[in-house]
Amino acid sequence: MKTELESMGLWPGSVPVRNPLKMVSLWRGPPQPELIDSVDDFPCAKYFQLHPFFIWKPENDNLMGRLRNNYTLPCIDGCAQPQIASAGVGRPRVIVGITGQYYLLSSRLCCKVCRKRWYADNPSWLEKLPKRFTNLLPAVLTYKKAICKSVLDELRRTGKSPTDMAKQITEMMHLKYERADLAYLLSCKNIMDGEEGKYDQKTITQFLRQETKPAPFGEYGDSDGWNGISVSAHYLTDCLLCVC
Ligand SMILES: [Zn+2]
Repeated sequence: MKTELESMGLWPGSVPVRNPLKMVSLWRGPPQPELIDSVDDFPCAKYFQLHPFFIWKPENDNLMGRLRNNYTLPCIDGCAQPQIASAGVGRPRVIVGITGQYYLLSSRLCCKVCRKRWYADNPSWLEKLPKRFTNLLPAVLTYKKAICKSVLDELRRTGKSPTDMAKQITEMMHLKYERADLAYLLSCKNIMDGEEGKYDQKTITQFLRQETKPAPFGEYGDSDGWNGISVSAHYLTDCLLCVC
């Protein structure tokens, strides 16, 4: 996330980017790990463990100025003439969607008048925003929970019980993890096949690298790896109660 934000000039202290609006989506997808150049070495498992993220920085005019128009962002405390500015990097919050998990990266805001600070995903601040802002968010945020709109839609569409829904999402998320694991193993195998001479000419990279075999991919829930989260029926029920 840091690298991506730096390239867009959104990370504090990064070089300003001339036209970040060339990017007209707030979504950032991970790179295709198979295409990252690493023929001398086994691929890094980390590249296979990245999830998409959604950038939520309503105060950033390069990014969201068109949506803001001439509207003045409100202060969370209700100051009459608020001055809202960015106050740091912000924080990511993990969201469960129908096709997997992603992160919602919200900026940290401050009001220069009353000096209050809060995160841009704070529900009581979101309530004060015009609908065109919150409509853009992929998730519904409440005081305790966050739920992807895709999950809400699916719950309504299918009439599934929270238990069945939790099961479906859990299956999907584990499937996604297994595919990523497989993609990583196939990429490693590609290197080894080359070294064994399967592609006619033997590559010599095995003499250059330190490791003789690839590092393990890690488990579903490893916090420094895939970082897969679990979804319970209880959680979904809570979300529904908060939203409806
Ligand atoms: Zn204020």
